[in-house]
Amino acid sequence: MKNEEVVAEHRETDEATSLEPPSYHPLFPVSNRSADFLKRHFPGSTLKDWISWPWQVKNSFTSVDQLSTFLGLSESEAATAGSDVQLPLRITPYFASLLEGNDPFHALRRTVVPVIQELTMSPGESEDPLSEMDHSPVPQLVHRYPDRVLFLVTNFCSTYCRYCTRTHIVSQQEKAHSTRKQWDVAIEYIRNHPEIRDVLLSGGDPLTLPDSRLEYLLSQLRAIPHVEILRIGTKVPVVLPMRITRSLTSMLRKYHPLMISIHFTHPDEVTPETAEACNRLADAGIPLGSQTVLLHGINDTPDIYKSLAHKLLKVRVKPYYLYQCDPIPGSSHFRTPVESGLEIIRNLRGFTSGYAVPHYVIDAPGGGGKIPLLPNYVEGYDGKDLLLKNYEGRSFRYPDYL
Ligand SMILES: *Cc1c(COP(=O)(O)O)cnc(C)c1O
Repeated sequence: MKNEEVVAEHRETDEATSLEPPSYHPLFPVSNRSADFLKRHFPGSTLKDWISWPWQVKNSFTSVDQLSTFLGLSESEAATAGSDVQLPLRITPYFASLLEGNDPFHALRRTVVPVIQELTMSPGESEDPLSEMDHSPVPQLVHRYPDRVLFLVTNFCSTYCRYCTRTHIVSQQEKAHSTRKQWDVAIEYIRNHPEIRDVLLSGGDPLTLPDSRLEYLLSQLRAIPHVEILRIGTKVPVVLPMRITRSLTSMLRKYHPLMISIHFTHPDEVTPETAEACNRLADAGIPLGSQTVLLHGINDTPDIYKSLAHKLLKVRVKPYYLYQCDPIPGSSHFRTPVESGLEIIRNLRGFTSGYAVPHYVIDAPGGGGKIPLLPNYVEGYDGKDLLLKNYEGRSFRYPDYL
C-alpha cells in the first residue's frame, strides 16, 4: 500500500485541517455533509484522514451493527445480521455519509445495504448467470469475444453493490488482492493470443490496488505489441473518489490509450467529490464511460435516468451501457421488466443529446454476451420503401433501393 505516497501528498497541508468552514480542503473537496459525518462518527479523525483513501478503506463499515449507528435499520435490513447473506458488506465512510437517515427506500442506501430478500431464490436465477466460468481459459480471465478479454485482477471492492454480477467470485475471499504470480498466468495467455487487441481490467475493483501494483499490470500489458487498448472498469470514483490522486492520474496517463468505465447508478452519486475525481481522470486524457444497472425503484424511470445522463455529461462521462439486471441469486427485488429499459431509451433518443443515450443491453444468461435492445423504430417494408417511426411516433419512408 502506498501509504507514504498518500501521506507525502498531503503533508504540505497539515494546517488546512484547522481551517473553517470545515468543508474546505485544498487537495480534495469535502462536502459539508461529509465533514459533519466525520465529526460525529470519527471524532478522533481529521479532514486530512478523510481525504486519504487508505483511511477510507481501513475505516469502512463492514457489519450491520456498525450501520445501525447511523441508519435507522428496517426489519429486513436488521434481519441480515448473522444470516448467511453471501456477498460481504462493505461501505466506505464517504459513501456512508450519503446514506444517513431512516428511509429504507433511499436509492443509494438500497444499492449497498443488504436486505433479507437476498436469501430468496427466484426462478431463472443462478450463481454464474453469464457462464463466465465456461469462458475462462485460465483463472481470472474471461475470453468471450474474439478480440478482447476481461481480466478479473482482484476480488476486492471498497464498497459492494448488492446486485453484483460477480457475487460468486467476490464472496469467496474478502480482501484478497491477487498475487503477481496469479496475474502472470493471465498475462502470458494474453501475450500468446495475438487476436486480443483490447484488455479490460475489472474484478473486484482494480482501482483499489495500490498504484505500484496497478502499474505493474498496465506496464506488462502495454508491453504486448498486439494489445492496442487498455480499459479499467471501476466504481471507485463514486464510492472512494479521493482515490483519484494526482499521483494515480499521472501514472495512468503513461499507458494510453486507456479508457475507464465507471459504474454509476443514480444522479445523487454525482457529488462535488465524484465530479472532481471524474474531471481529474478526464484531464489526464482518459475517455470516461458509465455503466449502469437498471434497478427497480432506484433508477428505473426515464426522469431519473435522464437526470443521471445529464449530470454525467457535465463531468465528461459518456453514458455507455444500461444493463438489464443479471438474474443472480436473490435479485428479484432489484430486477425490472425489460419494458422499463425500453421506455427509458424511448424517452431519451431524439429528446436529448445523442451523447446521453446509452446502449441498453442484456448480458445473455448462458454466456451469449451483450445483446442490444432497441425500441422498435422499424415498421417493415412497403415494396423497397423502408417504413420508419421517429422519436415522436411519426411515420417516414426511406428509399432503400440500392
Ligand atoms: C462486457 C464485456 C467485455 C467488453 O465489452 P464491450 O462491449 O467491448 O465494452 C468483454 N468481455 C466480457 C466477458 C464482457 O462481459
